[in-house]
Amino acid sequence: MMKRMSIRFKITFWFTMALVVVVIFTFLAVISVGNQIVQKIIKDNLIVTVEDNVDEIEFYYSIEGVDFSSDVDHFMSYADGYLEVDDDFLDEVNEVYTALYDSDSNLLYGENPISKAASDLQFIDSQIQTVTVDGLVYYIFDRKLTSEGLEDLWLRGVVSQEQGNVQMSSVTRTSLFIMPFVVLIAALGGYLIAGRMLFPIKKISETARQIGKENNLKKRIELGNGTDELHRLADSFNDMFEKLDKSFEAQRQFTSDVSHELRTPMSVITAQCEYTLENPRSAAEYEEALKVIQRQGRKMSRLINDMLDFSRLEVRSDKYVKTSVNMTTLVSSICTDMALINENGIELEYKAEENIFIEGNYDLLSRLVTNLVSNAYRYGKTNGHIYVGLDKENKNVRLSVEDDGTGISDDDLEKIFNRFYRSDSARDGTGLGLGLSMAQEIARFHGGEIKVESKLGKGSIFTVILPL
Ligand code: ADP
Repeated sequence: MMKRMSIRFKITFWFTMALVVVVIFTFLAVISVGNQIVQKIIKDNLIVTVEDNVDEIEFYYSIEGVDFSSDVDHFMSYADGYLEVDDDFLDEVNEVYTALYDSDSNLLYGENPISKAASDLQFIDSQIQTVTVDGLVYYIFDRKLTSEGLEDLWLRGVVSQEQGNVQMSSVTRTSLFIMPFVVLIAALGGYLIAGRMLFPIKKISETARQIGKENNLKKRIELGNGTDELHRLADSFNDMFEKLDKSFEAQRQFTSDVSHELRTPMSVITAQCEYTLENPRSAAEYEEALKVIQRQGRKMSRLINDMLDFSRLEVRSDKYVKTSVNMTTLVSSICTDMALINENGIELEYKAEENIFIEGNYDLLSRLVTNLVSNAYRYGKTNGHIYVGLDKENKNVRLSVEDDGTGISDDDLEKIFNRFYRSDSARDGTGLGLGLSMAQEIARFHGGEIKVESKLGKGSIFTVILPL
């Protein structure tokens, strides 16, 4: 049953249980200490009362000349004189009883509630004794008188321990009465506080549910400022939503770009077919039309292949197995082959450091190098140069492809790695705008990156950094 309850309830429940235990222990401790204190007070009170009464008793050989009319003091004959008990003598105060005895335990004056039961109790000077009478415990304090003529007399004080119990039981009753309220209020407060503390979680799950329902990744968990665990959790969620949103957005963009790119060759093919079929044509015209269709068809299939490669790369599928690749031979062979192109009289030179190996996929790395070198040709100037370099730098491999061609404007520099992006000047070319984004994706697949420096009209340097 506990499992199905809300965290809020569970927190409150356990907190309250702990509180009840603490309260009970505190209560027991208070009762025990309180009782000890009360008993000590009762005993002290007993001693003080008896000691005070000691001075109220005097002995006189003669009581001639005493004015009895105005005096409320008590006189009695004793031995060969008189005893005077002052009117300040307290025979019963605060349930402390004091009585005057002679050495044979005969009561001379005062009160003693357990006179009979404790009559055989020996007098012990200035010491507290405990006796039980009818199930009640009494403290007894005896004091031997020392003044002249009183040497055989004793004062005995008696107080019931019960008196303390009465006080303690009122403390107990009050505590027992208040305790449930304290626990109840604390539990209620705990419930409210738990609710407040857990509010962010409610907010997080609500937002997540809404995102799922409305398919709207733009929503964010709004908790306001804070740095506690739940705020950090919300921040992580928001970051995740942001990333998901971006990647979905990119996906959407890609799909729309692709359909856009496919539409052009498709409509060229359709238009070409309609135009050719409108009227009877000569063989040469048919051939011409077929060539146009073939060109567009090739373009489409290239596009489709590139896109497939892209999505594979993005999913990082296991299709691309990584092995130890000798970059030196890879770069050398590509450059040797491509140098043969000799397009526009462009000359390619390369310099590769010996024995550079990296963990990677041979096909992808070849593609990366080929893409960069063919761009250098495509955007190179007539009779220009291309320099390809490969070397180690710290724990990285650095591949650079430099040309002295058209260069790239600052505006374009930020965009050339985007899919399907082509600068205006390159629009009529054969490129699809996928070469660089592919190259970048390959570099990232290998844990590396591509940087570019370029000056319009002067040329560009593309640098690939890959971890060894
Ligand atoms: P494309 O198929 O158009 O070459 P890329 O992704 O390879 O597509 O390149 C994107 C754009 O970057 C190109 O259209 C071109 O404007 C620019 N670019 C790429 N390489 C170079 C270069 N070496 N010199 C000048 N501009 C370049």
